[in-house]
Amino acid sequence: MADIGFIGAGNMGGPMLANLVKAGHAVTVFDLVQAALDVAEGAGASLAATPGDAATGRDAVITMLPAGAQVREVYTAENGVVERATEGTLLVDCSTIDVTTAREVCQAAAARGLDMLDAPVSGGVAGAAAGMLTFMVGGTKSAFARAEPVLAPMAKSVVYAGPSGNGQTAKICNNMMLAAGMIVSSEAFALADRLGLERQTMFDIVSGATGQCWALTSYCPVPGPVPASPANHDYQPGFTAAMMNKDLKLAQQAAKSAGAATPIGAEAARLYAEFCNAGNESLDFSAIFKLVDQGR
Ligand code: NAD
Repeated sequence: MADIGFIGAGNMGGPMLANLVKAGHAVTVFDLVQAALDVAEGAGASLAATPGDAATGRDAVITMLPAGAQVREVYTAENGVVERATEGTLLVDCSTIDVTTAREVCQAAAARGLDMLDAPVSGGVAGAAAGMLTFMVGGTKSAFARAEPVLAPMAKSVVYAGPSGNGQTAKICNNMMLAAGMIVSSEAFALADRLGLERQTMFDIVSGATGQCWALTSYCPVPGPVPASPANHDYQPGFTAAMMNKDLKLAQQAAKSAGAATPIGAEAARLYAEFCNAGNESLDFSAIFKLVDQGR
């Protein structure tokens, strides 16, 4: 069993590290918030006083932090993970961050001879608790092979996406498509409502026709057709509008720097920003139906 440092024990990191402990790994945790450390200790982890202490002497270090700024700080600051990690330690960042930061931090690790992967996840807090996350992994193939057994207790699947940064690229492309699918499914229901087509009838027809998509059939944005969808539970998350807003901003940032035209992604980002600015950040992202349904 491996000796693992874990940094960022929040809503996702907390249950992820608990699954590593359950699988028999020795896990040493650092977080800035005492309450998160208390929960980690309760799950059977040991505690570290700094990110560097969490990294020294480990087989692997996993991070699950809010955004690129925290990832850069934790890895590259004086006394941080890159400086303090022992030779041979595998570094895996599971946070969702911008592609540029992911690649730059990986380069800083490589300059010290350390393997680093970007491995953002989908599956949300429920997937983290159940050990059923999908990891989208960027980095070298040899580092990926080393990471697979470490990630396994937290994973439904671990997918190789190519060189450094490609895990983040896969994640933001997926979520840009998901947001667009959710918005246009909401628009279809708002239009059908106004034209007198029953929601259930619209759902039954389209879910077997070419308009079918995951947002419609697995996560339907209106109450009724899919009993487990957040629309039937006052739009409690799930995956919050705030998280989708963050991922769409990352996608737009990446599109700009890569010179890619993403007009639908840009409009999705604009609509989610408007929805969040109106105080809806903590609702599930499928609640965008409420904004769409207001009409013009
Ligand atoms: P969170 O805010 O609950 O947890 C982040 C943790 O990092 C907190 O405990 C915080 O104290 C800690 N932290 C912040 N700065 C730190 C630092 N400098 N050193 C050490 N610890 C620090 O966030 P979360 O929901 O767990 O999300 C974590 C990441 O996972 C984000 O990048 C998010 O986009 C991604 N993600 C979240 C979900 C979800 O449904 N929550 C789904 C997929 C991906």
